[in-house]
Amino acid sequence: MEKIDVTEKYNLPKDVKFCKKCVISNQRPRIVFDKEGVCSACRYFEYKDKIDFKEREEELKKLLDKHRSKNGTYDCVVPSSGGKDSAYVAHELKYKYGMHPLTVTWSPLKYTDIGWQNLNNFNDSGFDVILGMPQGDVKKKLTRVAMIEMGDPFQAFIYGQVLFPVTIALKFGIKLIFRGENAEAEYGGSPESWNKKYLPMEEFKKVWFSNYTLDFWLDKGFTKEELSFFYPPMSKEFENKVCDSYFYGYFRNWSNHSNFYYASKHTGFKPNERRTEGTYTKYSSIDDKLDTFHQWFALLKFGHGRCTANAAREIREGYITREEGVALVHKYDTEFPKLYFKEFLEYTKLKEDEFWDIAERWRNHNLWTKKGNEWVKKYPVK
Ligand SMILES: [Zn+2]
Repeated sequence: MEKIDVTEKYNLPKDVKFCKKCVISNQRPRIVFDKEGVCSACRYFEYKDKIDFKEREEELKKLLDKHRSKNGTYDCVVPSSGGKDSAYVAHELKYKYGMHPLTVTWSPLKYTDIGWQNLNNFNDSGFDVILGMPQGDVKKKLTRVAMIEMGDPFQAFIYGQVLFPVTIALKFGIKLIFRGENAEAEYGGSPESWNKKYLPMEEFKKVWFSNYTLDFWLDKGFTKEELSFFYPPMSKEFENKVCDSYFYGYFRNWSNHSNFYYASKHTGFKPNERRTEGTYTKYSSIDDKLDTFHQWFALLKFGHGRCTANAAREIREGYITREEGVALVHKYDTEFPKLYFKEFLEYTKLKEDEFWDIAERWRNHNLWTKKGNEWVKKYPVK
């Protein structure tokens, strides 16, 4: 299988550097490091301290006043997995601000018991949920092709996750969508994104659809009908952008940690009993059995797995020190997700040696070296 030059493909710097404040490296696509060697996500956190969130909340209230329905019909869509973050958004909108959210869930590839239970608890706490499940056979094929061609088994799933709520909003004539945080700002991207209130469709395209057009998927044997939930709805309303996708994290001070406490209290959210493989946390992205493979492929390509992302975040929020973060990354970041490996192979109809071939296709050789039989990071965080 033809090897991919990941450094070139994602336009990554050859010279690997780690942020002086957190544990993220300059290998995260689109992240920016300043002269002091600090990443844009850490700088955004400092910047957030200066934001007047009281003022932002007033701005939110004005926006909601404009859209709030008077007869109880839905007035906004909240894309929601039943996880802590979207549960917080939906619950505040309904119970603090008197909105009437329709929550839209894009089904994971394979529900975990805890994920299904959390969605049901969320549903029970007063929310209508539309659950989108595209054809399973198509989803499985897409996962396999995305893994081979994009080095991320979840890429096609993410298209649907982003676009399905838009499709539903348009169908119900709802003009307001609330997504959670602005990931580009919160986790490291261009500082230009810091004050973004919402993501225009053009940006969606830049971030999610780079290099892969509809024709690409048709060439892989999918039909247009099979892909209807995975591509922007082909409608005038969509082209005219009559519904806007706002970041809730623009208006309210966003914290994964406090969202967790909020959702535990208000929507019956429960963390997992065990930590997720590849990290030390028990409450992040726990609804999908196969999500750990999305994280593991990121590790191959960019040299950082879920533990790095979790630790970087908790360092910024002040829950752990950088030193503790570094130790956690050394302990968990490169752990292979073996718990659901068999299920992943069955799902994608891959043999084990085919899986490893694809993995090696996407391994970034600028970041990994072989020691005996084992691949190790060339530049572990220090
Ligand atoms: Zn940083």
